[in-house]
Amino acid sequence: KLNLQNVVKRFGDRTVCDGIDLTVDEGQMVCLIGASGAGKSTVLRCINLLEPIEDGEILLDGVDISVPGLDPQSVRARIGIVFQSFNLFPHMTALDNVMLAPRRVRGRTRAELLPQIEEMFERFGLADRMHNYPDQLSGGQQQRVAIVRALAMQPEVMLFDEITSALDPQLVGEVLDVLLMLKQQGMTMVMATHEMGFARQAADKVCFLQNGRIVEEGPPEQLFDHPQQDATRQFLARAL
Ligand code: ATP
Ligand code: MG
Repeated sequence: KLNLQNVVKRFGDRTVCDGIDLTVDEGQMVCLIGASGAGKSTVLRCINLLEPIEDGEILLDGVDISVPGLDPQSVRARIGIVFQSFNLFPHMTALDNVMLAPRRVRGRTRAELLPQIEEMFERFGLADRMHNYPDQLSGGQQQRVAIVRALAMQPEVMLFDEITSALDPQLVGEVLDVLLMLKQQGMTMVMATHEMGFARQAADKVCFLQNGRIVEEGPPEQLFDHPQQDATRQFLARAL
C-alpha cells in the first residue's frame, strides 16, 4: 500500500532522512519511535509531500507520488495527517472545521456531508460538540475533531505526528482509543510517537529511528523485548 524506498531528505548539508525504506501494508499500524531529532516528523512530512525529497521513491499503491509536478492536493486527499497541535480554525465550529476540506476540495455540499459527519462525531464521542468552537473544547476533544477532520476526506492512509504530546495525561487515553477504533476498521496508519505502551499494544510494526535511519524494525514484542541493536537497547532503556 505505502512504500518508501531509499528516501533521502536534506536540510542544507544536514541529511535528516538518510535512505529510509519503509513498507506499510494495508490495514497496518506502523509506529515510528526514536529520540528527538531522529527524523520521525520529517518522514511523515515527506510522505504527505509537505517536504520535497532529494532521492528515493514514495509509492502509494505502486505509484510514485514524490515525482515533481504531481498535484500535492490530490495526494493529501488520499493521505491524511494530524499534528501535535490541533490546528483547528478558531473562528469556525467543530462541524465547519470538518466540512471545510471536503466542501472545497471535493465540492461536496453541507447537506451531502452532514449524515456521514454526524455519524463520525457520534462514533468519536463528540455528538454534542459539533456546534462548539475550538476554545470551548478540551484538548482531547479538539484533537478528536482534528482526526475527524482528516477522516472526512476519506483518506486511504492516516499519518499521526505525536498527536497526544500536547495533551494532559488524563486526555491521552481518549485520543489513543480513537486510533484503536480506526485500526479495527482497517485504516492504514503511520504514527510518530513517544507512547511506548501504545506502540506495544497497537502497532503491527515498530521502527526505531536514529539520525535519519531506521536502525531496527519489527513487531512490538520483538523490538521492545528482544532488541537486536545496541542503539535500540540504549534508547529503550531511557524511554521505558
Ligand atoms: P521530535 O521527537 O522532537 O519530534 P523528530 O524525530 O520528529 O523529533 P524531526 O522533526 O523530523 O525529528 O527533525 C529531524 C531533524 O531535522 C532535526 O535535527 C531538525 O532540527 C531538522 N529539521 C526539521 N525540519 C527542519 C527544517 N525545516 N529546516 C532545517 N532543519 C530541519
Ligand atoms: Mg517530531
